[in-house]
Amino acid sequence: MMHFPISMAVPARFLAPLPAACDVVVIGGGVVGVMTAWFLAERGMRVTLCEKGRIAGEQSSRNWGWIRQQGRDAAELPIMVESLRLWQGLAQQFGDRLGFHQTGVMYLAGSEKAVEGYEAWLPHAQANGVDSRLMSRREVAARLKGAGPGWPGGLFTPSDARAEPWVA
Ligand SMILES: Cc1cc2nc3c(=O)[nH]c(=O)nc-3n(C[C@H](O)[C@H](O)[C@H](O)COP(=O)(O)OP(=O)(O)OC[C@H]3O[C@@H](n4cnc5c(N)ncnc54)[C@H](O)[C@@H]3O)c2cc1C
Repeated sequence: MMHFPISMAVPARFLAPLPAACDVVVIGGGVVGVMTAWFLAERGMRVTLCEKGRIAGEQSSRNWGWIRQQGRDAAELPIMVESLRLWQGLAQQFGDRLGFHQTGVMYLAGSEKAVEGYEAWLPHAQANGVDSRLMSRREVAARLKGAGPGWPGGLFTPSDARAEPWVA
């Protein structure tokens, strides 16, 4: 049986005595807490990060890792654009250590109605400078060898990315 690399079964890392004083205490060492602490520390603040278990021991190391703009609600999309920009900066800083790859995300349309739905979403992408585009039936079949002609189309966003959650 494969054991997940981050769990209560492995010794705690990043231990340190509590400081006498700090500027900010962040509670919770998932991706939100760690990156909050990271960006505050970069701005020169003294940050204490408290985690009750293991850093990234819960959801943040166990998700699917997608950094996806495609298909987002109009209100979410600017946040995802900014998120991708931050991930790109982190990937430059850390190199391969995040498992960051910008290889795109593709959705396959199971019907003409789904194609229409993707088409209706495209103006949101354009308004936010996101490179999403529709794919024709032929393009889908050419790109996914063996997928057959059964997909009427798709939606593709080349700039969408993925990081490896438990490594990151
Ligand atoms: C199946 C699945 C797939 C997903 N896929 C994706 C994806 O592809 N892309 C994506 O962007 N997101 C995805 N997500 C969402 C993503 O995993 C979460 O949004 C993200 O991990 C939340 O991070 P977090 O830091 O808020 O929470 P967590 O990772 O849960 O971290 C919270 C931390 O706080 C600690 N804590 C809690 N209470 C205390 C306390 N009182 N004192 C000290 N520490 C405490 C916990 O131990 C934990 O370590 C997915 C989620 C699921 C469930």
